Parts: sequence; structure tokens; C-alpha cells
Amino acid sequence: MRYSAGLINTVREVPSEAEVISHQLMLRAGMIKKLAAGVYSFLPLGYRVIRKIEEIIRKEMDQAGAQEVFLPVLCPAELWQDSGRWSVYGPELMRCKDRHNREFCLGPTHEEVITDLVRREVKSYRQLPLNLYQIQTKFRDEIRPRFGLMRGREFIMKDAYSFDCDEAGADVSYQRMKETYQNIFRKCGLKFTMVEADTGAIGGNFSHEFMVLADSGEDLVVSCQKCSYGSNIERAECLPSKEKALPDAPLKPVEAVLTPKYTAVDEVADFLKVKKDEGVKTLIMKADEQEVVVLMRGDHELNEVKLKNLLNAVDIVMADEATIETITGGSVGFSGPVGLERVKIVADYSVQNLFNFVTGANKKDTHLVNVNWGRDCPVPQFADLRLVTETDRCPRCQDKLTITRGIEVGHIFKLGTKYSKALKAEYLDQKGDEKTIIMGCYGIGVGRTMAASIEQNHDKDGIIWPMPIAPYQVLVLPTDVTDKNIKDTAHDVYKQLLACGIETIIDDRDERPGVKFKDADLLGFPLRITIGSRSLKQGVIEIRIRKTGENLQVPKDDYKNRVIKLIQELQPQE
Ligand code: ATP
Ligand code: MG
Repeated sequence: MRYSAGLINTVREVPSEAEVISHQLMLRAGMIKKLAAGVYSFLPLGYRVIRKIEEIIRKEMDQAGAQEVFLPVLCPAELWQDSGRWSVYGPELMRCKDRHNREFCLGPTHEEVITDLVRREVKSYRQLPLNLYQIQTKFRDEIRPRFGLMRGREFIMKDAYSFDCDEAGADVSYQRMKETYQNIFRKCGLKFTMVEADTGAIGGNFSHEFMVLADSGEDLVVSCQKCSYGSNIERAECLPSKEKALPDAPLKPVEAVLTPKYTAVDEVADFLKVKKDEGVKTLIMKADEQEVVVLMRGDHELNEVKLKNLLNAVDIVMADEATIETITGGSVGFSGPVGLERVKIVADYSVQNLFNFVTGANKKDTHLVNVNWGRDCPVPQFADLRLVTETDRCPRCQDKLTITRGIEVGHIFKLGTKYSKALKAEYLDQKGDEKTIIMGCYGIGVGRTMAASIEQNHDKDGIIWPMPIAPYQVLVLPTDVTDKNIKDTAHDVYKQLLACGIETIIDDRDERPGVKFKDADLLGFPLRITIGSRSLKQGVIEIRIRKTGENLQVPKDDYKNRVIKLIQELQPQE
């Protein structure tokens, strides 16, 4: 590829709309261009990266016995109504109508469509197991599209679906995908961790996310320093607190105290001279339009996913002021469980053993002290409802936990019969009995993987592509194309490398060397060969390794072998 013939427009300034480094660098390198919020065009260099990631995915999926299909983006609403998701998917689903007023959606994921296909095509146990995948554009009207390719409204996903006769078979399919995903991300040159993920209404231990650790990540990853435990914070269990089951002090009489203007937990605790973990804070929420009161210890935060799972709710929001006032009869900021007889109350395990605690009085500017369960207020349903913190211990081995940010690049999930039951995907077993197919689903965000790779591999000068996904492996850079000797040598090197099957680009522009060096670093090609008067005079070829900044002077008759060897060395190791 000749640089001068390419559509490559780099810019020096950091684009103001880009918050994270991958987004900034992809825009500066001219690899993507925004069309609308969360909607991007890929330019030639950027699309080469996408295709490379896709090829790695294809190779590994094929090797695992999966077969590639290509399903429609336009999905009829009826299928989604049959599965029940037409009503629960909410505004993220891009809906549209045809000229006959029939409803459709643009596929955000394809469980319905693939299950429909399989129920029509598969009749017998002899046709199972089956794993079908596709690489295709998905649509999700994300509430907050941001970070470039990381959270788009239109994005490329690899989605796969497995179909098995029984649970044991489905577990084998799941395990195979788990290994395949590890191979894929390793072969893309990414450092990642696999963590347990929330399984929502389906339950069980069969969901894992593949996380690229990076400060810009939107997810929080909990990991143990000692054992292999890793979990998305949404799922991370909290061990029950160690406090004594019975109070060791007498229960004191309840007292109302004036706490004018103080509503925040810190302020109230300071004012009443108690610790934050001696207070119970009260959240009034709406779970699918049903009011629920949630009690947490003052120093803890609610884990909404745990609450959703406990209540089997789809949507959870804070109640509005009017609702709070109706339920508590008091003003916002001073809520508490005392006197709340007619509403569902749930509480985190950590408040179960509190006694003589502080809580809101459901009255303006007032808190109650010395409140006790049962005596003063209804005993709520206790459950694990809080977010784990770094002061918590590993639920497996009790060692220290760390919490880091991560980017979810892949997600695997054992679905069981959720979709096959709803859509009646059945097969005849050996005895001729009708059985429901057991499913799994497996997704990878292709664009998000590209972005995550940049988050992990860059420096102040630009991108540092891992060899397997670099748009070109080698850049040949003649420092002065008006010098015939330099120009001819560079073109010769370029042609020789192409003849060896090496993906090479030559910067044949009539630009100052400084400009070319800057662009080379920004675009992030793993190897750069500089042809200038000095190296020509010395009869050497200068190879620079982008990742380490190392400059190698290689004898002219040996450079091809060196480049081939370096390309091998820069591949991810087994
Ligand atoms: P998130 O929690 O980040 O919204 P998700 O759980 O909705 O992700 P899945 O439905 O499991 O994601 O989709 C599979 C994969 O598709 C994800 O692991 C991620 O890599 C990618 N993905 C999901 N949403 C987006 C998006 N809006 N933009 C780019 N990639 C996405
Ligand atoms: Mg999502």
C-alpha cells in the first residue's frame, strides 16, 4: 500500500468530543469518523483492524466446530412478542414499521431469530449439538452512547448460539466457548481476565465476562489476590457480616432527635456522633412500578442488580418525591422503616445484627436513635443487596479483594431453555419423545475489542498495535523521496517485503521526516524501516520496534529474515 494513495488523514489536535484515549487516537489517526451519536464509519486503516479481529474470531470459532451464518438485521416483532422481549427490552430496542404498518426491530442480539431458524431446521437428536455464529451489525439505542466504538448505537458483534440435547451437552458447549474466547483474546494480543457475571433471571453459575483491565472501563471487576476468584461487581457476593447475632447491650428506648438540614449519612452521623455503620439508610425505590423500601447500612451502597434479581424485576428506579411522601408520610431525606407497615421492605444482611441504630423518622428534620427490629419496626426480608468493597473478603478463600476497572469485550451465557421453551424449539430424542433444546449464547464486541486494545497499547505518541491486529505489519519510511537513491531503495525494500507476504505500507509522501515519524508513531505500525542517507552510506537497514522504541541496524542482505523473525517474536506467545 502506498501511503500517498491511501485515505489517511491524521490530525495533531486532540478532538474535544473524545474523552477516552482509544477514541481520541482512532479519530486522530483517521481510522473512524462519526456520522451521528454512537454511529461511526470505518476508514480503510481502521477497517483493516476490524477485519483482522474478525478473522481471528472466525478461525477460532470454526476450529471449535461452530458454523458461520448470516441472519437478517430486520427482525419481525412477532418473534420478539413470542419470547416476551418486545415489551421488556425497552427503549434500547430500535423499532420500526413497514409500509403495511407491520412492526419490526433492528436486531440488538439474535436469540429469537436463531431459535426460530433452528426450530424449523432441526427435528432430530441426530442434528445436535449445533453451534451457529455470525459477525454482524447490531443496533441498540443506548441511553448514553460514548467513548467512540466502546458504546455505540450501531456496532459489530460476533454472536454465537449453541443448541444441545441435554444439560451435560450444553455444559460441554459452554466450556468449549470459554476456551475459545480465551484463545481469541490472547490471539488478538490482549491482556484480559475472565470473571463471573450476573445471570439475572436465568440463574446458575454459567455466565462469564471477558474483561480488558483499563481505567476507562465502565465495569468494576472484583478479584482475589490469592485464589482465582474474579467477578463483575454486579455479581460479587458479600460474606455475611461478622457482628454478634445478639445485642450485648440493653435495648434503649427510642428517641426522636432534631437533625435540621442534615440528610446525608455523613452529616447525620457527624451530628449525632455515631459511626456511619451504626445507621440504617432508607431508599424508596420502584421496581417495575411496585414500591419497595430498601434498607442499607450507612456506609454501604446498593447493588441494583442484586435487588433486581431478588425482586425478579426488570426495571428499578428511585421513587419520585411525591411517592416518597405518600409512603412515608414525611419529607424526602428523613425516611426510615418505623411505621411503614403497608409496603414491602427488604434489607441488606449487614443491618440484620444492628441494634439501637439510627434511622430517619419519616418526619422533616428528624431522625430516630435506638431503633430495634421487631420492637420498633417490621422485621424486613434480609438478603445480600450491597456492592462489595475492598474492605470485604474473598467469598471463596477469604483473602483480600481488589476492585479495578474493566472493559467487557466478551460475554458467554448458558441460556438453558429460556428461548427454546418460549419459541418451542424441540427435537425428537432416540426414543421418539419430544424434548426442548438447551441453548447457550456467546457474544464479542468487535469494535469494542479494537478500542480496548488501544486502551491497553498506546503511549504519548500514539497507538501501538499488537502484531496480529495491526493494519499493516511494517511501514517503510524513506526520509526524502526527492533523493533518487533513497526513493529507489525504499521502493525496493517495500517490494521485497510484499513478495515475502508481509503486510507493508510505504510512506512515499513528499513530507519532512519529522512529519512522517510522527504519523508513523500515531498510526502505530509495529515495525518501521527507515531509509535515509545515513543508513544507506553505512549499508544497513534501520528497523524500529514501535512497542519498545528499540532501533536495530541490520546488514542489508539480512533484513528480510530479521523482519520475518521480528514479526514472529511480536506475535502473542502460547
Ligand atoms: P454492556 O453491559 O457493556 O452494555 P451487554 O451486557 O449489554 O454490554 P451483551 O449483550 O452481552 O452486552 O453483548 C455482547 C458484547 O457486545 C459485549 O460483551 C460487548 O463487547 C459488545 N457490546 C455490547 N453493547 C455494545 C455497544 N453499545 N457498543 C459496542 N459494543 C457493545
Ligand atoms: Mg448493554
